[in-house]
Amino acid sequence: MQQQKILVLGGGTAGWMAANLIADAFDAKRVKVCVLESPEIGIVGVGEGSTPQLKALFEKLGITESDWMPKANATFKNGIRFRGWSSKPNCEEYFHPFPAKTDRDTAQAFVYNSYLRRQNIDVDVHPSKYFLPSYLAQQSLGPHPNESFPFSVSYGYHFDAYLVGEVLKQHAFKLGVEHIEATVTQVNQSSSGDISGLVTEQGSTIEADFFIDCSGFAGLLIGKTLNVDFDSFSENLFNDSAVVMPSQHVCDETGSPKQLESQTTASALSNGWAWEIPLSNRIGNGYVYSASHISHDKAETELRAKLGLLESDVQARHLKMRVGQRKEHWSRNCLAVGLSQGFLEPLEATALHLAQVTIETFIQYFAAGRTSLREKAEFNKAIYSRFEGIRDYIVCHYKVNSRTDSEYWRECAENTNLSDSLRSLLSVWNAGEDISIEIERQGIAQYYPTLSWHCLLSGYGVFDFTGELLKDDRAQRFAVEDVVDFNRRCALNFKPQVTQLDF
Ligand SMILES: Cc1cc2nc3c(=O)[nH]c(=O)nc-3n(C[C@H](O)[C@H](O)[C@H](O)COP(=O)(O)OP(=O)(O)OC[C@H]3O[C@@H](n4cnc5c(N)ncnc54)[C@H](O)[C@@H]3O)c2cc1C
Repeated sequence: MQQQKILVLGGGTAGWMAANLIADAFDAKRVKVCVLESPEIGIVGVGEGSTPQLKALFEKLGITESDWMPKANATFKNGIRFRGWSSKPNCEEYFHPFPAKTDRDTAQAFVYNSYLRRQNIDVDVHPSKYFLPSYLAQQSLGPHPNESFPFSVSYGYHFDAYLVGEVLKQHAFKLGVEHIEATVTQVNQSSSGDISGLVTEQGSTIEADFFIDCSGFAGLLIGKTLNVDFDSFSENLFNDSAVVMPSQHVCDETGSPKQLESQTTASALSNGWAWEIPLSNRIGNGYVYSASHISHDKAETELRAKLGLLESDVQARHLKMRVGQRKEHWSRNCLAVGLSQGFLEPLEATALHLAQVTIETFIQYFAAGRTSLREKAEFNKAIYSRFEGIRDYIVCHYKVNSRTDSEYWRECAENTNLSDSLRSLLSVWNAGEDISIEIERQGIAQYYPTLSWHCLLSGYGVFDFTGELLKDDRAQRFAVEDVVDFNRRCALNFKPQVTQLDF
């Protein structure tokens, strides 16, 4: 069989992820992988939180936590704590956990009680009380249980985007990936319209059979060359900018952080929200906001005030975000992966997850020779729907917010640009019915499962009834005190994450 050459344009996290997965999947005699990146342009360098999908990537590549985590200043992430998105009583914050084996004991209680609560029965359905990862995060515990506790919890990571890229780059070299540093100034196309080669500023042409566009927001191949349209999500996701700055941990006399949290925090601010991502050596912070509602300067000032940081302490970085996705992620002999294919604001830290799913799905198609127009269309539909599914979950955060302190939050709540999928999910919830049936009917559980929707809607206190709640014996079936006691005792089997990071 003739060797095929795949050229990956871009050496950001998406580019090195793609190169590793392709080189790992195919025999080098069959597929030769090359990464071309521009040192002048550099990478976006944000993106410090992941879903559990990233764990699967490292496991697939055979890279152990003890090998990569210290090199990337990485920490464990049990989930995301949302602060200040709802003004309803008892909803000042809630935790969105990753799945855990102990869910089978507590999820039923949560779903049943949330059903009761929607029948106006007096029962506490605060999601933070029902799931073990919330207890781990609250106490800064790591996700690895003691040996005597045979119930695993899923987890993601926090990491330095530059350093994790370097880890992936070094691993790609071990897999035989070729690396070229140059800036592409021209893209050649054959008479069929396929891409045939990339011309660098030094004048050399690098040819390949297939191209992976990981050129970031530039979308040099998929957008600028193949003219694949971009479907914007700006009608229902207003945020288009971010300001980013690191802060330092409060340390003890030995220089170690006094507290190393094992969660991402997403705090609502006046015109958007701020992330707080604890790495082992610093904290990553960023304010994601709508530039139509607040100026860049005011956003920076607001983030500085939140963090207690002066301009003399640390420089801020301002970024524009293009939120939406390509109409086609795979066009002709080019697959877009990462920011070039589309981007959803980082509220649920799903960008790398989407990049990984895209490349893994592509590998399945490519390996099976499924590259016809019909098969490409099938692939594109699957990835497009995934973006939409995740978008709807993020949109829901804004739609059900109950803040009234700015025009921004009021406009988010009043926004009627919702997909049919989200609209019908919300009406099933508001009617007090079983949303798992609706999620099943729509086939969207692969994007966010029923429990995530329950956490979001209960966490924001999306219960219309404002009168006095009813007492009912059914609230005792899964008494919340028992669930809290169960989780509290389960959490005794986990050590602080600082201990777990001491490889
Ligand atoms: C504010 C913000 C917060 C985010 N937070 C998260 C998060 O918490 N979790 C998450 O998963 N993701 C997050 N993301 C997304 C994440 O940053 C990206 O998905 C990830 O970094 C991958 O980026 P990339 O590799 O697609 O692009 P980039 O990092 O921009 O890399 C582009 C590459 O293309 C190369 N290139 C471009 N043009 C040329 C050219 N002409 N010639 C040669 N090379 C070229 C560049 O040199 C570079 O190597 C966030 C993004 C933003 C904007």
